[in-house]
Amino acid sequence: MMYTLKPKQIPLDDRFEVIVIGGGPAGCAAAVSAARAGARTLLIEATGSLGGMGTSGLVPFWCGFSNGGDLCSTGFGKQVMEQLQNQMPHVQPGTKGGPIAAEALKRVYDDLVVGSGAAILFQTVLSDVDVDDQGAIQTVIVSNKAGLSAYRAKTYVDCTGDADLVAWAGGEFELGDEYGEMQPATMCFTLTNVDMTAVSRIDSHRVIHPNDGRYPLIPDNHICYGIVGPSAVGFNAGHIYQVNGTDPANVSSALIQARRMVAQIQALLAEKFPDAYGQSYLAATSSLLGIREGRRIKGDYKLMPEDYYARRVFPDEIARNCYNFDSHETSTELKLLAEGKLAHHPEEKVYRPGESHGIPYRCLTPEKLKNVIVAGRSICAERRVMGSVRIMATVLALGEAAGLAAAMASVAEQPDFHQVDVPVLRAKLLENGAFIL
Ligand SMILES: Cc1cc2nc3c(=O)[nH]c(=O)nc-3n(C[C@H](O)[C@H](O)[C@H](O)COP(=O)(O)OP(=O)(O)OC[C@H]3O[C@@H](n4cnc5c(N)ncnc54)[C@H](O)[C@@H]3O)c2cc1C
Repeated sequence: MMYTLKPKQIPLDDRFEVIVIGGGPAGCAAAVSAARAGARTLLIEATGSLGGMGTSGLVPFWCGFSNGGDLCSTGFGKQVMEQLQNQMPHVQPGTKGGPIAAEALKRVYDDLVVGSGAAILFQTVLSDVDVDDQGAIQTVIVSNKAGLSAYRAKTYVDCTGDADLVAWAGGEFELGDEYGEMQPATMCFTLTNVDMTAVSRIDSHRVIHPNDGRYPLIPDNHICYGIVGPSAVGFNAGHIYQVNGTDPANVSSALIQARRMVAQIQALLAEKFPDAYGQSYLAATSSLLGIREGRRIKGDYKLMPEDYYARRVFPDEIARNCYNFDSHETSTELKLLAEGKLAHHPEEKVYRPGESHGIPYRCLTPEKLKNVIVAGRSICAERRVMGSVRIMATVLALGEAAGLAAAMASVAEQPDFHQVDVPVLRAKLLENGAFIL
């Protein structure tokens, strides 16, 4: 059944030149970058804190700042990582990445975004968009405790992780694999009151779960962890299959299932490693479900596995990525693997230390839409490559480039990201310390 909204007057705010939707790593980087370039910038975030999966999602570890060589995500990403490490005395100075203390990271992003001059609107959800027939976004409609309101800017940066703005503006996208399935989701969580000496003695957390029916919600042995604070261990563990992050009812039931699963994982850890986790306390589960894969826009260039293997350098590259392929199999892929009808991809760890590939600017620009650019895990990329470039270090670099491009594009009378002077963009990124070739 459908319902027709009645036309109604709502407040309109047109003070900003750049509006960034979504305050995850990509959105924070974009907002800071646009504001530092002199654009009046607003960052709109659905939750009450910045950082996305790295904070509200409790992802306990940075990946891909380096693969053993030099830092691959420099510029703004390096600032974020170093400012966080300054607040984590147990992390060895000079560590390229390392664990994440979510509460400290929230304040790092707050300070950097506020310090850049960008305004932040928390607990505000992008809800609709008004686009003209030339593909130019006129206004975005948001909802929050004040009801509905409209915001109008020259340019928009979609950092929602699911390309909500692009999709609702009529931009094309892909979602999932050939069967319409996406990588499984995970709810990250933090255990405190852990015995760290006992943890350091554990060879592998990949516990073989007993399969005797006592932990029926734990489907597999997926488990990664980071020491996120004193006697505190952050986990990225367990999988929820067949979750579509763009389906709110689906996500709602997955959240409930995931919290039940986390309780079982904690119980299993306590049983397997009583010295380490026997007295542990479940301090937090993530308020955002960990969605690894959502909409991927149809952009002006689709990043392909061949580009990854070739360590491709692009004339218009605006970021580089050095992380390995990290796609978690869907339930269908697991079934096909078990039946021998699908081979494991051999390319998992092909890069040697210091190797990387470029990401062209064209991956960020949605076809047919003019004044919106995308950064984060919804850029235009084949889904296995997305399983690599989605990590936070790379996403921070993408956001930084998108924000700068937004500031540049917003100067035009009729902003169009397809017309941005990319050599100038690249020169400014290099000036700001980006790693590009
Ligand atoms: C389970 C899991 C484990 C991971 N592990 C690691 C890891 O160990 N290391 C690593 O580096 N990376 C890891 N990643 C990948 C990484 O965390 C994400 O890919 C990355 O955070 C994506 O950044 P983003 O800014 O695009 O999106 P997100 O981090 O998802 O942020 C999107 C933000 O937009 C907001 N938002 C969404 N829609 C709207 C809307 N309509 N209106 C307003 N705001 C909106 C959200 O609230 C959120 O704050 C993991 C991801 C998952 C899911």
